[in-house]
Order: sequence, then structure tokens, then C-alpha cells
Amino acid sequence: MSRALSLAETLAKEGNLPDQNLLELIRDRDPETAGFLKEQAAARRDEIYGRHVYIRGLIEFTNYCKNNCYYCGIRRGNGRAERYRLTKEEILECCREGYGLGFRTFVLQGGEDPWYDDDRLEEVVRAIRERYPDCAITLSVGERPRESYERLFAAGADRYLLRHETASESHYGMLHPREMSFSQRMECLNTLRDIGYQTGCGMMVGTPGQTWEDLVADLRFMKEFRPHMVGMGPFLSHKDTPFRGEKSGTAELTLYLLAIVRLMLPETLIPATTALGTAEEGGRRQGILWGANVVMPNLSPKAVRSKYMLYDNKLSSGSEAAESLYLLKQEMESIGFEITVARGDSRMV
Ligand code: SAM
Repeated sequence: MSRALSLAETLAKEGNLPDQNLLELIRDRDPETAGFLKEQAAARRDEIYGRHVYIRGLIEFTNYCKNNCYYCGIRRGNGRAERYRLTKEEILECCREGYGLGFRTFVLQGGEDPWYDDDRLEEVVRAIRERYPDCAITLSVGERPRESYERLFAAGADRYLLRHETASESHYGMLHPREMSFSQRMECLNTLRDIGYQTGCGMMVGTPGQTWEDLVADLRFMKEFRPHMVGMGPFLSHKDTPFRGEKSGTAELTLYLLAIVRLMLPETLIPATTALGTAEEGGRRQGILWGANVVMPNLSPKAVRSKYMLYDNKLSSGSEAAESLYLLKQEMESIGFEITVARGDSRMV
């Protein structure tokens, strides 16, 4: 038996490994160990959530962003990005359509757009909360002051996604300009949790400069933070960013890490991300088979979908599109899963 396989067995039994062993498990992976992790992660997910896949309607409501992250296609420095911003009415129209299709969670994601200040965003959240009391509202709008997070929570937002991107401060510095701060991002995550949001963190896999140690730091951070949700996808390069020409992350390593996260944090909700689906044909289906249990089809108006281009060739049609939910349903049924019409709260306590 390989060393990696014996470490994987311990991880499956104990839900944890010392850092050095996690590093070996990732670095020295082999097909047999990968197969074992996949099987164990899927079994853990089945025990806790069954073979149900939760769906979230993703509304990408603005691609204006004041930040300049080196990896991101909607960074402020990308003069070629065609900017758009949805109005409150347009967002509500997305929700109306989504509710009819069966979505009971709306995820409002956007760049850090100063136009959407607290007053404006609060109004949107309040309106969704009034019209859809049975739905969860997830926000993913980056770093904001504590008062802002509090106001949005009081207005009816339940969940917040803020990927930590990397748990290593030096690596964070390679991915972001100096004006952005690692400690502030981490502080935001603590604040969100403290306020009472179901909180999601996560990282990109295969970002430039990422080491095995960095990935271990991500796993350790998440094990300790105990997020309700973990969003993980491969880094994919974008032609109009400083990382153009950098190698993209792979679906293979992302899936391997996904299984490890499922075993370390069995109750967390893990989406099979669009980036995973973009990196490899059938990637999203693979994500589910490796332990994920959430998918987030695109509910944005069709006219703006191609403008929220975080990386080259980002998928937004076919079963990625909310209006084609029947395709997603077929896709999931083909691998033995059922789509669930429910809020789908995290079992993480
Ligand atoms: N502005 C919010 C924030 O910072 O959390 C939410 C929007 S941001 C575009 C959403 C996520 O997209 C980021 O957390 C990042 O992990 C991911 N992302 C951005 N550029 C990417 C790329 N080139 N490849 C893969 N994922 C990317």
C-alpha cells in the first residue's frame, strides 16, 4: 500500500491529519489514493445529506469593482470589461423567474461596486426578503465594514460567501495589489460568522505561486474556521489580467482537494463550481461524484451573462443556465442524484 493511501485511510477514519501528512497526501497522490478518497468523500456526503443536490440561483448583479486582484477578469484595471449593473427591479425579476423554476436560495454576487452602498443594497435585500420569506438570501459582495454586514443581515440576508482565496499571507500578496490586505479579509470572515451569517470561505486551486504548503494552510484554516460552505474552483487565467499566460489550475487537483475537504468537514456545503465545469468537460458532475452537494446555475439576465467574465470561456449556458434546469436535473439523475427544492441550510453547527 502506498504511503498516500495509508494517510488517506487515516484521514477517512479521523477527519484530520497533521500538516506534514496532509502535504504528503496531496503532493504524493496516486490514482489508487484518489479513487479511495473519492469513494470515502461521496459516502460521507451521502450519510449527511443523502444523494440530494441543492440548487442556488446565482444573480451576478454588478461587474463594477474597485479592486484590482491580479487574477480576476472584472478587476478595475481591465479597461476591456464591458461594465453593467442590474437595478433593484431587474434583480427582483431574476428572483421571480427563479422562484418559479424552483429556486429557494438566491445568491447575489458582484464586484465591490461602490454604487451599491448600504442603503441601496439593503433596499434590494429587504425587497427580496418581503416577497420571498421562504427563501434564503446569500450575499457575495466582498469586504465591507461590520456595520454594513450588520445592516444587510438585519434586512434579511442569511448567508455570505467570501472566499479567503489563500490562507497564506505571503501568497495572498502575490495575488493582490498592496492596497489589499490579507488580515482584513480574514477579519471580515470572522465578523460575518460572529454576526450570525452562515458563512462560506474557499480558495482557488492552482493560482500562480501556490505551493503544497499553501494548500495545507488552506485546509488547516478551514478545519479551524468550520465554515458552513466551502467554495473551491481551479484558477483559470483571463486574457486581460496580469495573470494572462499563467498556467491554469486543474480539475484533477481541485477534485482531489474537494474530497479531502469533505472528509475534514463532513457537514459543510460544497458547490461543484462553474470554474470546475469550465476547466473540464463534465467537471461539475465530477464535483458531485467527489463529494460536492450544491450547484449554482446562472439566473442573471441572459444579456449580461457574458459580461461577468471572471476567466476565459466561463460557462453560462446549457445546464449552467437556470432556465435550463431540466438539463441539470437530467445530468444529476444520470449519476444517481436528485435536485432538491428547499433552502438547503448547512448542517454545520
Ligand atoms: N467581489 C466578491 C469577492 O471578492 O468575494 C465576489 C465576486 S468575486 C469575482 C468571486 C470569486 O471569483 C472570487 O472569490 C475568486 O475566487 C473567483 N475568481 C475570480 N477570478 C477568478 C479566476 N481567474 N479563476 C477562478 N476563479 C476566479
